[in-house]
Amino acid sequence: MPALFLAHGSPMHAIEDSPFRRSWETLGRELPRPGAVLCVSAHWETRGVYVTSAPHPPTIHDFYGFPRALYEIDYPAPGCPELAAKVASLVRGASVHEDAGRGLDHGAWSVLRSMYPEADVPVVQLSLDMTHAPPFHYALARELSPLREEGILVVGSGNIVHNLALWHRGSRRPYDWAERFDDAIAERVRAGLHDDIVHFHRLAPDAHRAVPTPEHYLPLLYALALLETGEVARIFNRAVESSLSMTSVAIGAD
Ligand code: ZN
Repeated sequence: MPALFLAHGSPMHAIEDSPFRRSWETLGRELPRPGAVLCVSAHWETRGVYVTSAPHPPTIHDFYGFPRALYEIDYPAPGCPELAAKVASLVRGASVHEDAGRGLDHGAWSVLRSMYPEADVPVVQLSLDMTHAPPFHYALARELSPLREEGILVVGSGNIVHNLALWHRGSRRPYDWAERFDDAIAERVRAGLHDDIVHFHRLAPDAHRAVPTPEHYLPLLYALALLETGEVARIFNRAVESSLSMTSVAIGAD
């Protein structure tokens, strides 16, 4: 099973047509059909590592100031308590706690809704333990690699460049530093230079503006860490708009 990093961008992609949304629809049609999705979203930050274990996770509308249509979306994909337990048992580098009350945030459903519109693929979310630095996340993700052989699609959902403080809704013109940082990461993804990607702070000063907080960047590591020898990381949706990049990565999907 391939693994994905999907840049989710604005929640509006869930209801508006865009090339990004069409790419998610295509992935849903063309990838092997997974038994379940394990999604690592920028929008679930925790202290400690958590996994959703509800059999029917509710849809969380975790954004403000958007049209009513977005708040009315329900994405009733079932959960998969067995997968949650499996994740907890696979990970040795941290204790993984099951959270039976947590639903699906928009980092997960805004892309999965396009991939699997029938909501018939079970979805489990894994949280981002923000008490740890990027190498912890990469190492944790490596431990998830057996899931690929079991038909589980791991999806990291975030954005390589994500600076909302500098975001101009009306402008698609990218900032120079945003484009430079996105290019630098894309080059390193292609070259398999994962150590540079994990230690992205070395790409100063652009990294400070491109990744002012790491939650949207870290999901990239969860996909990259699953790359096996001989596999290709395919980059798609290359675009930087203002201070947000939509650059996405597919592992083992050729
Ligand atoms: Zn987001």
